[in-house]
Amino acid sequence: MDRTCMSTAPEALNTLRPTVAEIDVDAFARNVAAIQSGLPQSTRLIAVLKADAYGHGAVPLARRCEKERIAMLAVALLEEARELRSAGVSLPILILGPLVPRQVGIAAEAGFTLGIVGPTQLHDVCSYASPDNPVRIHLKLDSGMGRMGLVETDLEPAASMLRNNPNVEVKAIYTHFANASDSRDGFTQRQIERYERMLQFLEPVGVRTPLHHIANSAATVRGVIGASDFVRVGLSLYGAEPLDWERSRLEPVMTWRTRIARLKTLEAGEAVGYGTTFHTSRRSRIATLPVGYADGYDRLLSNCGSVLIRGRRAPVVGRVSMDLVTVDATDIQEAAVDDEVILMGRQGNVEISAEEIAQKTGTIPYEVFCNVSARVARLYRSSQGVELRSRFL
Ligand SMILES: *Cc1c(COP(=O)(O)O)cnc(C)c1O
Repeated sequence: MDRTCMSTAPEALNTLRPTVAEIDVDAFARNVAAIQSGLPQSTRLIAVLKADAYGHGAVPLARRCEKERIAMLAVALLEEARELRSAGVSLPILILGPLVPRQVGIAAEAGFTLGIVGPTQLHDVCSYASPDNPVRIHLKLDSGMGRMGLVETDLEPAASMLRNNPNVEVKAIYTHFANASDSRDGFTQRQIERYERMLQFLEPVGVRTPLHHIANSAATVRGVIGASDFVRVGLSLYGAEPLDWERSRLEPVMTWRTRIARLKTLEAGEAVGYGTTFHTSRRSRIATLPVGYADGYDRLLSNCGSVLIRGRRAPVVGRVSMDLVTVDATDIQEAAVDDEVILMGRQGNVEISAEEIAQKTGTIPYEVFCNVSARVARLYRSSQGVELRSRFL
């Protein structure tokens, strides 16, 4: 049951507290392969590794991407792109942006591809670009997200800026869907139609439309990718479900585990935790876990979440505090100090998914992953070996 094999883990693991997010790098690679196998021959994958690969750790997963047939990586920030380059990752990197003006030259000089999110950024890029300093861009069109990208009235001035700046190279044009995960979605089709109208405007005014990408995870899983040369996939790589109504054949990549630090018996009628929000109704065995909201274990899971011990669910009782969580282990008689506890992931035949936690905390799996904080060590496990990353090492 305990999948941790300490003998192959770095010795350093034994010097840290047992709260660890284990990242199954092979599962990540299988998700990549599964997504790729569903794509048309001519469509390639852009792996979205922004926000530290949705909390999974961008550098180790980017390194794995280099072994797969991935066209490009995408991140949100220049800082994230630089982190990957400094770590020796050589795949092309698209920065989704936005960038502040001073970042434009730095990003271009480093050879990154800039997602152009509006007329101001296009202007910044055009002012920077020169024969010695060409800039590669992907031009973003707002087909209905209402957030970033050029709107219809931006197209003519943008086209004229681009005509006057041959050193700005439009490598691709893209847009982003607002509602692709919804089972009753009619909006995505309207976005596609609007995108196509915008392209038809751009062509005659001289903005050649070489390559395209429109689909995020939800659209990719649904097969709504149009005549795209790329898809931009984030969430599916990490094995979470992008659709509201079904389960894809993807494997969760992150298992968040800890161990029981303290196990005590309380008589009936005792209080547990801040605010005395829980009182034992019977003689109870309360397990204390070394994890809290500072680690990203949401305080909304107070008296609501559950964890897995010896293949069974134990409910969170009392408030989640900054560094500790209390669970009721009374019904798991064999439970003992140092037992493995799964906060998110599978143990035996039982699973606590990111979707379950998201549902209980009123959010989405994206945020559940991103919330797992830098205080939690990440353990990368693959057939190649084990790597431990922690800001404390
Ligand atoms: C984050 C992001 C994606 C990836 O979205 P997923 O739903 O995680 O696949 C794709 N495109 C853009 C522009 C994004 O910001």
